[in-house]
Amino acid sequence: MADATPKPAKNEEREKSKKIGSLAALWPFIAPYRFLVFAALFALTATACVSLVLPMAVRRVVDNFNTSDGALLDLYFAAALGIAGLLALGTALRYALVTRLGERVVADIRKAVFARVIGLSPSFFERVMTGEVLSRITTDTTLILSVLGSSISIALRNVLLFVGGMMLMLFTSAKLTGMVLLIVPAVVVPILVLGRKMRKLSRENQDWIAASSGNASEALLSVQTVQAFTHEEISRNAFGEVTEKSFDAARRRIWTRAQMTAIVIFLVFTGVVGVLWIGATDVRNGSMSAGQLVQFVIYSVMVAGSVAALSEIFGELQRAAGATERLVELLHAEDTVNDPATPLALPEPVRGEITFEDVHFAYPSRPGVAALDGVNLRIEPGETVAVVGPSGAGKTTIIQLIQRFYDPDSGAICLDGVRVDALNRDAFRKHIALVPQDPVIFAASARENIRFGRPDATDAEIESAAKAAAAHEFITALPDGYDSWLGERGVMLSGGQKQRIAIARAILRDAPVLLLDEATSALDAESERAVQRAVDELSEGRTTVIVAHRLATVKKADRIIVMEQGRIVATGAHDELVSEDGLYARLARLQFTDGMAAE
Ligand code: ADP
Repeated sequence: MADATPKPAKNEEREKSKKIGSLAALWPFIAPYRFLVFAALFALTATACVSLVLPMAVRRVVDNFNTSDGALLDLYFAAALGIAGLLALGTALRYALVTRLGERVVADIRKAVFARVIGLSPSFFERVMTGEVLSRITTDTTLILSVLGSSISIALRNVLLFVGGMMLMLFTSAKLTGMVLLIVPAVVVPILVLGRKMRKLSRENQDWIAASSGNASEALLSVQTVQAFTHEEISRNAFGEVTEKSFDAARRRIWTRAQMTAIVIFLVFTGVVGVLWIGATDVRNGSMSAGQLVQFVIYSVMVAGSVAALSEIFGELQRAAGATERLVELLHAEDTVNDPATPLALPEPVRGEITFEDVHFAYPSRPGVAALDGVNLRIEPGETVAVVGPSGAGKTTIIQLIQRFYDPDSGAICLDGVRVDALNRDAFRKHIALVPQDPVIFAASARENIRFGRPDATDAEIESAAKAAAAHEFITALPDGYDSWLGERGVMLSGGQKQRIAIARAILRDAPVLLLDEATSALDAESERAVQRAVDELSEGRTTVIVAHRLATVKKADRIIVMEQGRIVATGAHDELVSEDGLYARLARLQFTDGMAAE
C-alpha cells in the first residue's frame, strides 16, 4: 500500500493456459447429465437445420411474386409461420437445457473445489493465497459457466450454420461463392490484426482492474491503520493512479474497436454491394432468378455471422480452458497430510494420553530450520501441562502437530498409543478441543458461535457451556442476548469476551484432549479472572496442553515443559524450576508478570 508506483497483477497462469483441450477435464462433471446434453444437441441441430432451410423458402416466395397463383403464395407464408414457430420452440428449448446444464455443472464444480480445499492442511495455504482460491471458486467458475451455459452451444450452432451455409451457397451459385471467397481475406486480415491488438489491450485493462481492486481491498481492510498514519492521501493517489491506468487501457481498447468497426463495416458493405451488383446483372440477363439472389445473400450473411461469432467465442473458450486448468489444479492439489488408506480405530473410551517420540519437524515452507528438534514427551490422561519458552521455541508447533496439521519428518506422535497418522483425521480430531490464541468469531449470533463446538448441541447445552465459560453474563447483557449478532470477526466483542466464547465452544465439544494457546495480550483484571475460572472449569478432568503466558496458569499446571529452539530443555513444577535458576527462572521473572491479577 505504501508502494505508490502500482503495477498490474501479472497473471502468469492466464498466459500459459491456452489449450482448448483442457476443457475436456470438465467432462466428469458433465457426464452425469448426459441426457441434458443429448437433448440440447438435438434441439440445437434441429434449429440450425430449420435456419438453413428458411432461405430456400424465401427464394420460392420471391420467385412466386409474379405468378398469378395466390393460393401457393399463401401456403408459403403459412409454412414460414410454422417454421418460425419451430425455430422459436427449438431455440427456447436449447437455451433452457444448455443454461440449466451450465448452472448445474458449475454448482457441482464449486462444491467439489470447496470440499477439497476446506480439508487441505495449512501447508497448502502457505503456498496459495486464500484470495486466489476464492477468485478461482468465483471468477473461474463464472467463466466456465458462460462457456457451458452458452458459448459451446453457440459455437456448435455456428459451426453447423457455417458448414451448411457454405454448401448451400455453393449450391445456389458457384460463381458468386467464388467471388465471396475472394473478398473474404480482404475482410478477415484487418479483423485478425486489430483483434489481436484489442485482446492485448483488454487483457491490460483487466490486469489494471485487478490491481486497482487489490489495492482498494488492502487499503479498506486496514482502513484504521491507514487513517491512524494519515495515509489517506497516499492511498487515494495510489488508487487513483491505478484506476486511471485501467481507464487509459480501456480508452485505447475502445478506439481500436471503433477503428475496427469502421473498417469492417465498410469492407463488408463494399463486398456485399459488389456481389449484389454482379448478382443483379445475372438476374437481369436471366442466368439467375431474383429469388436465388436473395437466397444467396441470406446464406452469405449467415455464414459471415457464424464466422464472426466463432472468432469471438474462440477467445472465450481459451479463457475458460485456462479457468478449467486452474480449477482442476485445485481439485487435484497434493496435500502433505493425508488420511491412511486403512485407518486404525482408537480404543474406546478415549483416555487422552499423548506421546511424542523423538519428533523432528521443519515447516515445509522452511525445510532447513528445525521447528522441533528431537522432542520426547508423554502426557498422562487428565494431566495439565503448561508449555513455556521464548518466542519461536516451538510451543505452537507442538499444538499444531498434536492436531496433525503437519506430519513430523521423523519420530511418532500418538494418541492413546495409536500413531495419529494411522487414524482418520476427522475421527481423532473429534477428541480434541482447541482454544486458539486469537479466537475466531464468525459473523453469526452468539448462540451459533458457541454451537460451532458441537453442531448438534441443544440451546440448553449451549447456555450451560456459556455459564461454565463465564460468558453467560455478558451474552445476556447484549441487546438480543444469545441471538445477538456478533459482527464480522467479532468486532463487537472485547478480547476477553472472545476468549470466553472460544472456551464455551471447547466446553461444549466435551473432548478428552484440550489444547489451549493462551492469549499473549494482557486482559484487564476482571476479564483475566473470568477467563481463568473458565479455563479451570474446562481443563478439569481432561488432558490439557496449554501454551502458557501467565504465572497463574503455570502455577496451576501439573507439569511445566520448558522449550528452547525446538527442544525440551527442562520439565518440572513451578517451584522446582524456579529453584533450578535456569531459563525458566529467567522467563518467570521477565514474562509471567501479567497473571498476578488472577492469583
Ligand atoms: P512459539 O509458539 O514457541 O513462538 P512456533 O512453534 O510458532 O514458536 O515456531 C517455531 C519455529 O517455527 C519458529 O522458528 C518459527 O519461525 C517457525 N515457524 C512457525 N510457523 C511456521 C510456518 N507456518 N512456516 C514456517 N516456519 C514456521
